[in-house]
Parts: sequence; structure tokens; C-alpha cells
Amino acid sequence: MPRIAPYESWIQQAEEIEFPNQVFIEGEYVDAAAGQTFPCHSPIDGRCLTQIAAGDSEDVERAVKSARKAFEDGRWSALPPKKRKRILMAFAEKIRAHADELALLETLDMGKPILFSRTHDIPSVVRTIRWYAEAIDKVYGEIAPLGNNELGLITREPLGVVGAVVPWNFPLDMAALKFAPALAAGNSVVLKPAEQSSLTALRIAAIALEAGIPAGVFNVVPGKGPTAGQALGRHMDVDMISFTGSTEVGKLFLKYAGESNMKQVALECGGKTPNIIFADAPDLDVAVRNAVDGIFYNSGQVCTAASRLLVEEKIHGEFMEALLDAARKIEPGDPLNPATEFGTMVDETQTGRVLEYIESGHREGADLLLGGERINQESGGCYITPTVFDKVRREMTIAREEIFGPVLATIAFSDSSNATELANDSQYGLQAAVWTRDLSKAHKMARALKAGMVTINSLDSYKEVMPFGGVKQSGFGRDFSLHGLHKYTQMKSTYIALD
Ligand code: NAP
Ligand code: MG
Repeated sequence: MPRIAPYESWIQQAEEIEFPNQVFIEGEYVDAAAGQTFPCHSPIDGRCLTQIAAGDSEDVERAVKSARKAFEDGRWSALPPKKRKRILMAFAEKIRAHADELALLETLDMGKPILFSRTHDIPSVVRTIRWYAEAIDKVYGEIAPLGNNELGLITREPLGVVGAVVPWNFPLDMAALKFAPALAAGNSVVLKPAEQSSLTALRIAAIALEAGIPAGVFNVVPGKGPTAGQALGRHMDVDMISFTGSTEVGKLFLKYAGESNMKQVALECGGKTPNIIFADAPDLDVAVRNAVDGIFYNSGQVCTAASRLLVEEKIHGEFMEALLDAARKIEPGDPLNPATEFGTMVDETQTGRVLEYIESGHREGADLLLGGERINQESGGCYITPTVFDKVRREMTIAREEIFGPVLATIAFSDSSNATELANDSQYGLQAAVWTRDLSKAHKMARALKAGMVTINSLDSYKEVMPFGGVKQSGFGRDFSLHGLHKYTQMKSTYIALD
């Protein structure tokens, strides 16, 4: 784990840091074409950090033109893979060298504890870029099984211009999951960050250029979803949209693609992870710790957040007691203090949304065991206490909808078939977790659970080497692993008659 600077140092750095706030096109920061901006508030104290250029369809047009030109003239797409690899490695190294600055921008922008932005988010970005840089000169084409008088080559080519549209919960981390493989494969990229979290995306655009990624290959257009996001989604010259965000907006991108140029779409959308605890879990203390981290990490603003806790009836009482003991110890605090492990919500809107869900839990008759309040309002910050509901029924809103906040919904189950049925009763299917020492039960559950990722006696075990993504309305297409690289390529079959 990287050593982290003390509290005073972060406060000092926060005073001095510069906030990037312009659109980045063709290797330059410029104002939005229409001259519009929107305010960037910190959820830590409500302060307006800067005014960010509000890109719209004209800016998207310029960014896509620049990306297309770069792609067609081959300044990046035609480089030998090992050269792209070298430049991407330099890019990762520069990000590592700017880790404090980037972590601080992330924390000020969206309230994530500096502890995590500095030791998780930014290192994860560096790892992802390195992984795909390392991979790209190890991907081979195929030769088709044909006769001696003919030759069939199956090659993978970059798609062209990839639009990446990302959310605010792990702003740079999620963006890297898109741009790293897309760039490694030789594509040009136009990145649209979420309006709540544009700062790190804008900052790394210049870092990419310094590292040797040619101008035009990596463009960043901040702006609002319905304007900049939609313009990218509907653009006739964008070959693919790689999206992470809500299911609702994911569906819009399918529509945009269908109504424009039939561009490819990859969607990583919402989730409602069932975390299933059997009485024969190998270590209940470990299961408790994971259940707590699984819902409260990043203030619950995680697509894979273990927001539905399913506990076997016979251990329900003792499990909840231990869980409450652990959850009570979590203290929301200033995200700039490295001792803080639970920061703010991303903004006022999300805070209000989560409080409404908590209210619906009360109204629909769930038992509130812990939290449920907004606190520290005098700081101007968006703090909600860790919240635990018990006696939740499957039809309740808090059991069905993705809250994207620190709110746990607990349901007791009788046996594995009851647990499977409850777990699968969701429009989502991103992750599911099972805690049991019974190997055969674990395998059966893993098969029966409708989720893109199942973890046994573990939670949130993301590995670069394993595909990440969902089924049902959690989306399709996978990030991470070589599958996450292949989706930024298309196959070409070349047939050669030798006689
Ligand atoms: P969101 O509202 O769906 O926004 C995601 C992105 O889409 C943002 O850049 C947003 O821009 C843009 N957008 C919004 N409306 C649009 C429109 N009409 N047309 C085109 N683009 C539009 O999601 P969010 O609130 O940022 O993030 C929370 C959601 O992301 C949750 O549902 C969560 O589950 C999901 N998520 C999924 C994963 C995963 O890997 N499966 C990971 C993280 C988060 P603006 O910000 O400007 O609106
Ligand atoms: Mg949004």
C-alpha cells in the first residue's frame, strides 16, 4: 500500500491545487464552443471549486472529427503494438507520479476518502493501463483451417472512434477501464466524464499528451448527459460507445445507436448484489466484515455494492448483532483526513435521493436498526450515516431498486432454494456472493445465480484477469481481461486463393 501524506498536507495541497476546467480536443484545452460552463461543487463543504466548460454537440463534433482524423492517418492506430505499449507504459508511469494530485482532485470532486482515492483508485488506474499495455503485443490473429491452395487470415483491427461515457463513483478508475483497452487496441477515444466528476478526466488528458499519446487520439469533453452524452451516442462517426452508468441511461444509448449509425454499444449498468450468508459460512466474523465493507465502501456508491443481505434464518439474530457492532464503529468524516474511511455522498441530489429511499423503507414497514440520517450539515457537506434495515420484504422498494448509497436491506431465508429464488428476484444481475463451507452447495449456488460474477466466501474480488460485467439489466459486454480488450476490436477475415 502506498504511504499516504498526513491530514495537514492534504489541506495545504487543497489550497494550492489547480482545477482543469476546459474541453480537451486535438491536444489542447479550449473553452466550450458555446462558451457555456457549469459549476463544480465539492460535496465536502459545498464550495464551488471551478466552473467547467459545458461541452455540447458542437464540441463533440470537433472532438470526434479530431479523433477520426487521428485514427485514419494512423498516428496511433498504425503504430506497431510494442510502440503503443511503450507509450501507454509511460502514461501509466506519469499517472503514478501525479498520484497525489489526481487522488486529491478525485476526493475534492466527489467526496471519496483520500485514503481510498490515493491507495485504491489511482493505483488501480495505473494497473489497468499497464495491464492492457502489456497485453497488446501478445494478442495474435488466427489462420483458418483450410486446404493447401488457400489461406484464411483472421485479424483483429481497432474499431475507429470509441466514445466512453462514465459515472462519478470511481471517476478515473471506471474511465481507465474503457480508455486503456480502447487505446491499447489502436482506437481513438472521446471521453465524457459524469458532470459530478470531470476533474481527473480533464487532468489526465494533458498527462496522456505529455506521455506521447498523439494529439487527437485522446479527447475529453465534459458536459451534461442529455447534451454532450447524447451527441456522442447519436454521432454518425462514432464506432462504439462504451458506457458505465445507470440502467436507465444505458437503455438510451441503445436507442441512440439504433436511431443513428448502429454503432456498437457495451453497457455496464446498475446492480443489486445479493450477499448470501449460510449458517455454515467458514468464518462468520469474516462474513460480517465483508458484509459491512460490501455496502459501506465508497458510501455505498458502488454498482456491485452488497445492498441485499440474505441471511439464513438460524443465524439471523447473532449475525445482525455482530454486523451492527461493526457498522456502529464507522464514523463519517472529512474525506481529506487519511484516517477517514467513510466520506460524503457525491452531491446534494444523490443525498436527497438516498434519504427518499430511507423514507420509503420506513413507509413500507422495514425495521430501521441503524442510521438513516443526514449529519454534519453545518459543514456544508453531504453526509449520510451508515444505514441498516432488517425485516425487509422482497417487494419493498429498498429491496428492488438500486439505491447507490449506504443503505443495507436485510432479508432472512430458510434454505438454498429460498435463497436462490430471493437472490434472482431482481432486474439486475451484476454480482452475487455466497458464504458457505459446503463445496457442493457453493457450486450449485454459483450455477443457479443469475449474475455476471459470483464470489464464494469473498466479495468484490475484482481481478484484472477475470471479466467484469453483468447479465439481465445490469448490461452486457465485459471489462477487464482479454475479453475487455477484444471488444474494442473487430475481426476481419481475409481469404487468399493461392492457385
Ligand atoms: P448515469 O446518470 O447513468 O450517468 C452515467 C453517464 O451517462 C454520465 O456521464 C452521464 O452524464 C451520462 N448521461 C446521463 N444522462 C444521459 C443522457 N440522457 N444521454 C447520454 N448520456 C447521459 O449514472 P451515474 O448517476 O453517473 O452513476 C450511477 C450509476 O452508474 C448507477 O446506476 C451504477 O450502478 C452505475 N454504475 C455501474 C457500474 C458497472 O460497472 N456496472 C460501475 C459504476 C456505476 P451526466 O453526469 O452529465 O448526467
Ligand atoms: Mg448523473
